[in-house]
Amino acid sequence: MKLINNVLSLFYPRLCASCGDALQQNEQCICLNCMLHLPETQFHKEHFNPLRSVFDGRVPVEETTALMSYKKANHTQKILHNLKYKGQKEIGAVLGEYLGGQLLTEERYRGIQYILPIPLHPKKQRKRGYNQSEWIAKGLSKGMGIPYLTDVLIRSQFTDTQTKKNRFARWQNVKEVFEVRNPEKIAYTHVLVCDDVLTTGATTEAAIRKLLEVEGVHVSVATLAATTF
Ligand SMILES: [Zn+2]
Repeated sequence: MKLINNVLSLFYPRLCASCGDALQQNEQCICLNCMLHLPETQFHKEHFNPLRSVFDGRVPVEETTALMSYKKANHTQKILHNLKYKGQKEIGAVLGEYLGGQLLTEERYRGIQYILPIPLHPKKQRKRGYNQSEWIAKGLSKGMGIPYLTDVLIRSQFTDTQTKKNRFARWQNVKEVFEVRNPEKIAYTHVLVCDDVLTTGATTEAAIRKLLEVEGVHVSVATLAATTF
């Protein structure tokens, strides 16, 4: 079987989602060299980190972190592009698990009970075939040893692509797009909302606001990347 795999990889090499080099047998999605050089923020190590300031004065959050910083033309951009638009959903699971392992090294993250991926609108998900945030949630779930729920935070209406709108227009656009179903599942728990990238935070803020309507809920945020820094 190993021989067949080796022969196959001669013709169809699996490529690193970051640098594009051929992956070794034991490497998943991203080569070891790129994993060692991810532009990691290490925000999880500090309660008062720069990502937290995105939510200050807007919505109460417990912990906030992003695995990587996102800058134009850095490898994060390539990785996220492959995750979202090239069908490479496994990247979400691999990096989610890696991030989950890091979070467990901090006491502040150990009380989290559920992971909630930010949902895509069903239309968009049908088109893409998957929700990248759900794959990140799968990875986080494995890394942290806690379940993820996809039947609580639900997207209720279609929104246009967000990229060309300013912050206020984005906020108008997203503020009513989420709803919470089965609220009893998360009442009096600490949940971790996850997504691929945090830009203005408007989408995440809208989701958190909805979740905070449930009695006794505490919300933390973890994304693979954040652009604001
Ligand atoms: Zn690489």
